[in-house]
Amino acid sequence: MRRPIVVGNWKMNTNLEYGFSLTREIIENTRAITDVDIIIAPPFLSIPSLHNILNKSEIRLCAQNCSNEKKGAHTGEISASMLRDSGVSHVIIGHSERRENFAESNEIIARKLFASIEENLIPILCFGEPLSARDSGSALTYVETQLNLSLLQVFKDPPKYLILAYEPIWAIGSGQTATPEQAQEIHSFTRESVSNKYGSDYAKKIRILYGGSVKPENALELFEQPDIDGGLIGGASLIAGDFTEIIKSASRI
Ligand code: PEP
Repeated sequence: MRRPIVVGNWKMNTNLEYGFSLTREIIENTRAITDVDIIIAPPFLSIPSLHNILNKSEIRLCAQNCSNEKKGAHTGEISASMLRDSGVSHVIIGHSERRENFAESNEIIARKLFASIEENLIPILCFGEPLSARDSGSALTYVETQLNLSLLQVFKDPPKYLILAYEPIWAIGSGQTATPEQAQEIHSFTRESVSNKYGSDYAKKIRILYGGSVKPENALELFEQPDIDGGLIGGASLIAGDFTEIIKSASRI
């Protein structure tokens, strides 16, 4: 059985004070939940301070992005090894906001995957279709291309540690969640594509998260789907009570 994961993506929200109190509340609320990997992705600048208070906790730290370059003249960038140095274990790669607002192509995303894997970070590779692809019935083809160009046609051997996150763009921050059936269709297609390339043992083990307006009210029905292994949570991860309820929905205890 795959261990569920719930990731909170704080995006460019929270100051240090709010980040501290949110983290402390999450630690407190989730002490008894031992069967879910809980991960938070705060803004870069909060990472070192939050690392100190997470020391004795099982909650892991994730970055929201990393450079595709190792080091050098790349003003404003943060490398995978710098993240590793600061106590980060996971990194979100290819979030749709990066793809759309910062013109990150599948090729760049593949290079970011390489960079993070080289530093032993665990990448959370995001993919998902825009509304136009969903409306025209080409959602599967759209995500297939993304997966091929960023992962399946690029990595001959499967990355040892990798998490996938299906995030339909039309569902992110919109309050409009994919139905459990819509999400399950893409998740099972994704697992099958991974299986065709890397074999069924690897595909059975890889965890595929759903993201897009997950809330305490809809988390359970999504997490109950056979190929959904948890969630990547934006807005609701900024409220300790909501984030806790979502984590509880992923737990089987
Ligand atoms: C996200 O940004 O990854 C996300 C899923 O956001 P929200 O939960 O707010 O839709």
